[in-house]
Amino acid sequence: MPDTADIAAEREQIDTALAIEAARKRSASSPVPCGRCYNCDEFLAEGLTFCNADCRDDWQLRKRMQGMSIT
Ligand SMILES: [Zn+2]
Repeated sequence: MPDTADIAAEREQIDTALAIEAARKRSASSPVPCGRCYNCDEFLAEGLTFCNADCRDDWQLRKRMQGMSIT
C-alpha cells in the first residue's frame, strides 16, 4: 500500500516542474512587442504583441507549423 503523503509530494513536484516548463514555453513563444499585432498587423497599445488570444493562438500555431523558428 503506497503512502499517500509520498504520492502527494511527488505530484506536487511534477506539477511544479510542469508549471516551470509551461512558463518557459510561454515566454519563448511570445515575440517582442513592436506596436502591431504579429498575427494581423493591427496597431496596438505599447507592450502588446497581439490584439487578443485568438490572434496569439493563430500566430503560435503558424509558428509551430513553421518549425518553431521564432526570432
Ligand atoms: Zn491581431
